[in-house]
Order: sequence, then structure tokens, then C-alpha cells
Amino acid sequence: MTHIAPPAGGPSLPQRRHLATEIPGPLSRELFERRQRSVARGLSHVLPVFVTAAGGGVLVDVDGNSLIDFGSGIAVTSVGNSADLVVTRVTDQVAQFTHTCFMVAPYEGYVEVCEQLNRLTPGDHEKRSALFNSGAEAVENAVKIARHATGRDAIVVFDHAYHGRTNLTMAMTAKNMPYKEGFGPFAGEVYRVPMAYPFRWPGGPARCAAEALDVVTSLIHAQVGEENVAAVVIEPVQGEGGFIVPPDGFLPGLAEFCHRHGIVFIADEIQSGFCRTGDWFACDHENVVPDLITTAKGIAGGLPLAGVTGRAELMDAVHPGGLGGTYGGNPVACAAALGAIETMEKEDLADAARAIEATMLPRLRTLAEATPAIGDVRGRGAMLAVELVRPGTTEPDAAAAATVAKTCHAAGMIVLTCGTFGNVLRLLPPLVIGQPLLTEGLDILADAFAAL
Ligand SMILES: *Cc1c(COP(=O)(O)O)cnc(C)c1O
Repeated sequence: MTHIAPPAGGPSLPQRRHLATEIPGPLSRELFERRQRSVARGLSHVLPVFVTAAGGGVLVDVDGNSLIDFGSGIAVTSVGNSADLVVTRVTDQVAQFTHTCFMVAPYEGYVEVCEQLNRLTPGDHEKRSALFNSGAEAVENAVKIARHATGRDAIVVFDHAYHGRTNLTMAMTAKNMPYKEGFGPFAGEVYRVPMAYPFRWPGGPARCAAEALDVVTSLIHAQVGEENVAAVVIEPVQGEGGFIVPPDGFLPGLAEFCHRHGIVFIADEIQSGFCRTGDWFACDHENVVPDLITTAKGIAGGLPLAGVTGRAELMDAVHPGGLGGTYGGNPVACAAALGAIETMEKEDLADAARAIEATMLPRLRTLAEATPAIGDVRGRGAMLAVELVRPGTTEPDAAAAATVAKTCHAAGMIVLTCGTFGNVLRLLPPLVIGQPLLTEGLDILADAFAAL
């Protein structure tokens, strides 16, 4: 097959939408055939265009199409693809050395990433960090640390939660299909309680915070016993489960309950962290200070890295050798994280996320007024969502969400869906996306809703 010579990626890539062929084009379809013969069926794709370059707010495919990116590879490339400081630091590091294993012979980059995590995460108490490869692995390790430090077994998680696809994190994840179906038996001592979900709270959004807190703490008391709970694990803004933002008061109340009962409060900020919601971390919004916080996705500009950060006395409760892994905190991934963090600080990407919200949220609210199928518009910063329902009800409409997403894809824009009921469109542009692409993306979305 003949490939079009790909343009150089990164921030210098022309920031424009351009359709050279239908989506996906002939060369992507050819590669997809090869994919079908070689890659397991269990891996699915939002949009099977094969990418050759990406940067800023666009992805370029093998057919020469340039697509607007409202997905950021699931909230990962917040600093943009191949961001300058990520590229230079990674290039330098990869030429210097690629791996020693931190448990065999350490290196400065790992320590520096931990220092940055300790500095940037909520709370000014003494902290320690440990690095891993994936979000799921970070969640697993946070649970290990909490159990070890408390000597307790039970883990409390929420409806609509997503914590990963390993055995323990599948047990912690709420949604069966596709994440858990046929993959059991699952890890034990995981207890699920209702999430403070304003749009679907039976007593209405105004009563959600107080009632949800009451239900959650009563269930923990009656069905688990506070003294048996090692940790409560919550995404401060839920990701895969539908971009559910708990009402103000719920997270501080939950943290206070945990504190009162010696329960480790773990914030899973793997999706919401690193400037995505307009603060460094979603917990910052209400000054909630978690005991442990898990990070991944946006941390390293696309390279695989994850972290657990928390109170020194909890983190250091584990004996030497009790935590680790061959690749965790790989030097190249650490170099990428330092470049990504430097970019976030230099370019004030938390502020950029707030500016994206200021552009998008009013447009989405206007769209909701004109569109009976939109039940709810929510989110913070550049983590925004539109929940689709059958008009006049709160009945989820996954088919409508899929139709809108498909229409956007065909027009040359990547958008993702999510939600326990599959009926939520989620918008996750890179924080470095330019205003013209953002506006054009919103126009495409408006057209897709109008065509519904
Ligand atoms: C994506 C995600 C995970 C899992 O991270 P992986 O790197 O895919 O293992 C865990 N928790 C949250 C909140 C996530 O969004």
C-alpha cells in the first residue's frame, strides 16, 4: 500500500480540520483488515482511523485526514501530543539510558517525579509517592497500602465507578458490560454504595449531597462496619461511569466521615487530575485533602506512568520490598512526566481548562435548551459531558449518544461516549487546543444534535 508521507507531529502540526477522504478512508480500512487478522477481537476502537501524526488539537491519519481531537486519548494528552518539553526530555533520556529498574539501581528522574507529586497534590502534610505503569496498577497499590497500614480488609467503592481492568480493579469497577462480563470470579471484600449523582438522585439534585452522604455512611455502618473498612475509594469526578460530578458538600462530608473512623480516603484522580478539571486536581475544588491519591493518564504526555501519593505514615507503613514492579517509574516515562508537568506550569493549563469550560459550557447549555434529548450538561474544566435521554424522561438513550458520536466522527471530529448506560457524550479536548478548533468542534456537535 502507498502511504502519504506523514507530516511531523507535535505542536507545529497545522491546526485545522481537513477531510481528504471519507472517514475512515481507504488506507485506514486496509490497515483495519490487517488488524482484524492479527489483533485480538477483545480490543475495540472508537474510530478506526490509523494515526500517523498528532499535536495540539488534531490527529492526522494515513489517508491525510486531519481530525479535531475532543478525546485526548481518554484524557491523556492534556499537554498535547508530542509536546515540545516532553519530546526534548524523552529524547535526551532515551539516548542516556532506558531502564535500570528502580529496585535494582535508582535514578534521579524517579525521585524528581515523586517530589513533584508530593508538591502538587492536595495538602501540605509530609508525603511519599510510588510510581507504577498504569492507572489500574496504581489503584491496586493504593489498596495494598491502605490495607497494610490499617490492618483492615474492606474496600468501599461507588455505583458508576471505574478503577481499571485487573482482577481487583474489575471488582471495584461498577459496569458489567464490557469490563467484567465473563471475567470473574472477582476479588472479595469490595462493597459498593450509591453515588451522589444529582441528575438521577431520587430526591432531586438539591437534596442529593445530604441524602447521599446519609445513605452511604448508613450502609457502611450497617453492612460493613466502619472498623472493618480499610479505604473508601472515589473518583472526585467520575470518568467512565458518566462524568458524574458530586454536589458540593458530598466529598468533604465523605472525607470527614473517613477521618473520624480511621478509614483511608483514596481519591482516584487518574482521569480528573493534572489540570483537567481546571485545578491541579479535582479535589482542590472543595479543598478536600485525600489520604492517598492515584494519578496516571494526564501525568506524562502519553507515556505510561502512574503514581500513588499520600501521607508519609501510610505510605511508609509498608516494609521495604513490599511495593514495586519491573518497569514502574521507567526513566523515559519519568522524563516525559517532568516535561508534561513543566508544560502545565509554564502554560498554566489549569487556567486553559477553565477557559475551555468558559467557551464550551454556555454553548452546551444553549444546545440543551434547544434539544429535548439532552437531559443534563455537566462537568468542570475540560472534562465536560452531555447526557442523552428519551425526551421528557430521564430514561437513558444510548442509541442517540452513539448516533451523535458517529455523526461527529464522519465530520472529522473524535468524541467519546461513556456512562453506565452508555448514553453520555464526553468532551475531553487537549488543554492546548486553540480557540478556532474548539469553536469548530462545538459547531460540529451542534449540527450533529440538530440532525438527531
Ligand atoms: C482510566 C482509569 C483507570 C485505569 O487506568 P489504566 O491506565 O487504564 O489502567 C482507573 N481509574 C480511573 C478513574 C480511570 O479513568
